[in-house]
Amino acid sequence: MTERTAGLARTRRFRSGRRYRLGVMGGTFDPIHHGHLVAASEVASRFALDEVVFVPTGRPWQKEDKEVSEPEDRYLMTVIATASNPRFTVSRIDIDRPGPTYTIDTLHDLRTERGDDVDFYFITGADALSQILTWRGVEELFDLAHFVGVTRPGHELTEPPIGQVPDGQLTLMEVPALSISSTACRVRVAAGEPIWYLVPDGIVQYIAKRGLYQHDDDRQQFEGHSGAGTLPANRLPDIGKFFDDPYQ
Ligand code: ATP
Ligand code: MG
Repeated sequence: MTERTAGLARTRRFRSGRRYRLGVMGGTFDPIHHGHLVAASEVASRFALDEVVFVPTGRPWQKEDKEVSEPEDRYLMTVIATASNPRFTVSRIDIDRPGPTYTIDTLHDLRTERGDDVDFYFITGADALSQILTWRGVEELFDLAHFVGVTRPGHELTEPPIGQVPDGQLTLMEVPALSISSTACRVRVAAGEPIWYLVPDGIVQYIAKRGLYQHDDDRQQFEGHSGAGTLPANRLPDIGKFFDDPYQ
């Protein structure tokens, strides 16, 4: 069964007298971490979502000047991280579409895949939300989904200027604060610092197995971040120790 028919079947199996509610969590997921998972879980609970589909980006248009890991690695990490939650699924829709990823295309393609009897809830952190009015197709975006902006440490969650978002199409909500970013995780791996408990265990192992993030490309950009990403002193990368000493 293809992903498209599986998604459609999942939606069609649903019989409860109300419309199916699908959360959409877009991201680069390089790597996926507990901040993403908690945000999705909280929004799912608050809006009684039937499913949250995680959609790893192809080439994110906001990150075109940056190195991003292979789509297959980001996709597999997303599958591993979400596998234990029966309501979480992963879509290849963005990584299989050539060219840069725009949310408007994601939502159109998901609509084609899932049909009209589904309400979409697009989940976004405070940093991404503050950019939303610059996104391609913004005038149409809010017709395609209800947007949910969640709190994120280090970023202010603010309502866009009045009149910019149609009434009732955006909800701001507070979620437990996890000061974790993918950038911080990459920097920590490159510096030989642990990422246990910032990401699911399977992701620690996957990163080690594939030798991801050995090069410290993010260090410069990272300066100024706080929390889980505090830069360690000059530590040499030593990915092998994740296996020898798993609970360092
Ligand atoms: P990077 O540092 O590479 O930008 P990231 O941690 O911001 O990675 P993304 O894949 O860019 O992760 O983010 C995907 C979505 O998840 C965005 O909407 C982002 O705002 C949200 N998000 C990421 N981390 C958190 C967090 N700790 N708390 C709440 N939302 C988050
Ligand atoms: Mg980000």
